[in-house]
Amino acid sequence: MSEQFDLVVIGGGPGGYVAAIRAAQLGLKTACIDMNTGKDGKSALGGTCLNVGCIPSKALLDSSKHFHHLKHDYAEHGIEAGEPAIDVAQMLKRKDGIVAKLTGGVAGLFKANKVTAYHGRGRLLADRQVEVSLHDSDDKVMLEAANVILASGSVPIQIPNVAFDGEFIVDNVGALEFDAVPKRLGVIGAGVIGLELGSVWSRLGADVILLEALPDFLALADTDIARQAGREFKKQGLDIRLSTLVKSAKVKGKEVRVTVEGKNGEEQLTFDRLLVSVGRRAYTDNLLADDSGVKLTERGQIEVDENSRTSVPGVWAVGDCVRGPMLAHKASEEGIAVAEMIAGKPAHIHFDTVPWVIYTDPEIAWVGKTEQELKEAGVEYAAGSFPFAATGRGLALGNAVGMVKMLADAETDEILGVHIIGANASELIAECVVAMEFGGSSEDLARIVHAHPTLSEAVHEAALNVDKRAIHRVN
Ligand code: FAD
Ligand code: NAD
Repeated sequence: MSEQFDLVVIGGGPGGYVAAIRAAQLGLKTACIDMNTGKDGKSALGGTCLNVGCIPSKALLDSSKHFHHLKHDYAEHGIEAGEPAIDVAQMLKRKDGIVAKLTGGVAGLFKANKVTAYHGRGRLLADRQVEVSLHDSDDKVMLEAANVILASGSVPIQIPNVAFDGEFIVDNVGALEFDAVPKRLGVIGAGVIGLELGSVWSRLGADVILLEALPDFLALADTDIARQAGREFKKQGLDIRLSTLVKSAKVKGKEVRVTVEGKNGEEQLTFDRLLVSVGRRAYTDNLLADDSGVKLTERGQIEVDENSRTSVPGVWAVGDCVRGPMLAHKASEEGIAVAEMIAGKPAHIHFDTVPWVIYTDPEIAWVGKTEQELKEAGVEYAAGSFPFAATGRGLALGNAVGMVKMLADAETDEILGVHIIGANASELIAECVVAMEFGGSSEDLARIVHAHPTLSEAVHEAALNVDKRAIHRVN
């Protein structure tokens, strides 16, 4: 006998758990199946994001930032604290505590919203039947629902001749758990994970070399921002080697020997730890029975239309397992939209205004089109920019690196993209997302009062500079 639900969600990450809560709020009888297990051996909801992604990486970024400030920046403020030391075990304990609080919080929200949670592996059969292999028993449970959401997330991509061993050659999971600061850390892929986790261990004292296959650094970002970021990271000691192909990596004793082919031909590099962060792939292993009817794309993602519908009526898919950026907020918004559509409400997602943030120092954040994208598309635009070095708040903070760059349609002045590199870029971008969602113009932002002294004044001045009337810079 199958247990009946209005909605069964497979996957309890930001896509799945948020969809389940929203569906329950809307009165649907909802179950969510998640197979992730925490360090205590029990279910740990929240997916990659809460367990081994967004949250633990930001916890370590903040810890390492404090250490770095203490070592390098506080003397300027007249603060003397002697030579700092890092207790890695305590740093990891703090991170684990934050993760446990949040994953437990999701379980609490499930209870409060009456979402039935199953700890185990879900598999979609024909006719929206879902088989659950429970984690702590050999039993299988059968569920049946009018609607099913697949939210199975993603896993790291592996490259040939570089096998993960979980200790010396690791993915994000291992790089969040090093029990000591590696003296030499190699990172394959100078993308988001490589830069964030590379920064963590570099700030704590590791010599970090990033091996990037592409000739361009941060190819997704606006070129001006990527260029400035490259300069800043170099100053911090991150050694980013572009156009570098990794041919193989082998563990020898307690070292990793890496053969690369770069601008200087073939070379051998030796590291104490190697992080592989070359992107992630949709995870659909054992998710779909042969007769489930759900189609995959050539790239192995679950095929969906613009409203997250799969090839099977009543089966939907959201988050990292489908097309679009692999971002937690994108997954969650898709989950909410699907839950609302299932409940008969109008819902949509505006993919053009999904913000991106890279939590390095300086932070990098953007929304909308880059200047190179506008050029390629032949769109006429006007650009405005403003450096944080010309803001009182940036100088008072002792962190005035970076700028805001705004791109607006040359004729209508509608904002087409905003690109920020600097302190708190992750928070500053929100104003720009709102402006773009409302179809706002640079003139709109230019006419809005921004508090003084704040970093948001740089957004204001960049908007003014689109029309060449910024006050605190020569236009
Ligand atoms: P996931 O979070 O991967 O969740 C999927 C869940 O489904 C997992 O718990 C998995 O175990 C479970 N599952 C899979 N198959 C089954 C099955 N058959 N049965 C039962 N359960 C199953 N994004 C940001 O927006 N901001 C950040 O700062 C950020 N930082 C990141 C840092 C790192 C190191 C990493 C790796 C990622 C980061 N991301 C960040 C990306 C973000 O984590 C993902 O985009 C997000 O978690 C995707 O959510 P999801 O629900 O689609 O999938
Ligand atoms: P990524 O796509 O950001 O970066 C991968 C990098 O590896 C790219 O620069 C790529 O050119 C390079 N690369 C690919 N193959 C290579 C090879 N064989 N040798 C050398 N370099 C190679 O991927 P990621 O850093 O693994 O992160 C995965 C995803 O997780 C991101 O795309 C992002 O969506 C998400 N994420 C987001 C955040 C955030 O929002 N702050 C943080 C971490 C991860």
